[in-house]
Amino acid sequence: MKTILKCINCSEVFPENIITYKCSQCGDLLDVTYDYQEIDPRALKEEWKSRSLKVWKYKELLPLQPINPVTLGEGGTTLHKCSKLSSMIGLKHLHAKNEGENPTGSFKDRGMTVGINKALALGMKITACASTGNTSASLAAYSAKAGLKCVVLIPSGKIAAGKLSQAIAFGAKVLAIKGNFDDALVMVQKICEKYPIYLLNSINPFRLEGQKTLAYEVYEQMNYSIPDNVFVPVGNAGNISAIWKGFCELKKLGFIENRPRMIGVQAEGASPIASMIKENKESLEPFMNPETDATAIRIGSPVNWKKALKVVKESKGTITSVTDAEIIEAQKQLAKVEGLFVEPAGAASFAGLKKLIETDEFSSSESFVCVLTGNGLKDPDIISKYYKKPIEVENNMESLGGQLLDI
Ligand SMILES: *Cc1c(COP(=O)(O)O)cnc(C)c1O
Ligand SMILES: [Zn+2]
Repeated sequence: MKTILKCINCSEVFPENIITYKCSQCGDLLDVTYDYQEIDPRALKEEWKSRSLKVWKYKELLPLQPINPVTLGEGGTTLHKCSKLSSMIGLKHLHAKNEGENPTGSFKDRGMTVGINKALALGMKITACASTGNTSASLAAYSAKAGLKCVVLIPSGKIAAGKLSQAIAFGAKVLAIKGNFDDALVMVQKICEKYPIYLLNSINPFRLEGQKTLAYEVYEQMNYSIPDNVFVPVGNAGNISAIWKGFCELKKLGFIENRPRMIGVQAEGASPIASMIKENKESLEPFMNPETDATAIRIGSPVNWKKALKVVKESKGTITSVTDAEIIEAQKQLAKVEGLFVEPAGAASFAGLKKLIETDEFSSSESFVCVLTGNGLKDPDIISKYYKKPIEVENNMESLGGQLLDI
């Protein structure tokens, strides 16, 4: 569908085919907007029923409809019913959306398939991003598939081994800068201003369009209904904003009456938005030295904080924070109880849920969806740091038998 870009602050509009990431009037974030009048919701719902679950299934609500989109088969991830975990923490309806099932192992792929097709439509030859890891893995893969060159800026020594391996294997030019993610994001924006390189961080509104499909999938997977609450790990806050947009569109089209409450979860050492909400501040105070083992959300100055605040306000949700210990405990429980192995950042949503159901904001009869954002295989070092090591045994029955007495 034809779209325009609209500033979230001053409402200035821009055509979709100019290469820009921020409002040239006030410098604020842009959002992709559609003419929803053009859509016949009933026909669309029927049409969707005939297609299998994946991002491009929803092409009518995406900003471009390439005939043969560059895709790696993203989206269509499982919504797991977590009965055991649910009763362990006193809830009745808990589901987990396992975004680790995406082609490169995180939800970033949903956004990247749209972003890379946009890059092609704009005639760009080189893509770039700053990354705590997953964005670089995803962009590198999609750039490879699209035949585009790719540059990624990562904070030196601070990204998980699996993610770095992916970016390298997919053939990106990997630049490890001496600084943190926030520094890398400032630099990559400068690079993309100066050179003809297409920026695919979540400041790029087209990428977020792909990510909103998670909401549509949850709606279909819950048999055309939505949960009362959705918990999402938050770094730059692009994903929570995108998912909320998806639910808002379902309401606009008349598919649902109510929208879920959105709860974002940051890691305590990198929780500027949670702090802002807790202390009732007017604007964001960046964390200068963000620190957490959940490296995917180790972000001190989230670019999409204004979008996130809008989500909190409109959905009557909140953004909270959890400690690294709570995150690792949540990661262990997801793995050991439900068989879902997620990276630390991916477990932040469940850690946040466990923390907040202790408060009287939520009732145990409500339904909950935790978005598990990334695959556990990406960060093996966390396992050697926090989990039991393998036990060395002699190659004989006696030693083995001894070990089997307490499994
Ligand atoms: C990117 C990422 C996040 C954070 O998403 P934002 O859109 O930056 O808030 C959370 N978890 C994982 C695994 C990620 O890769
Ligand atoms: Zn503006």
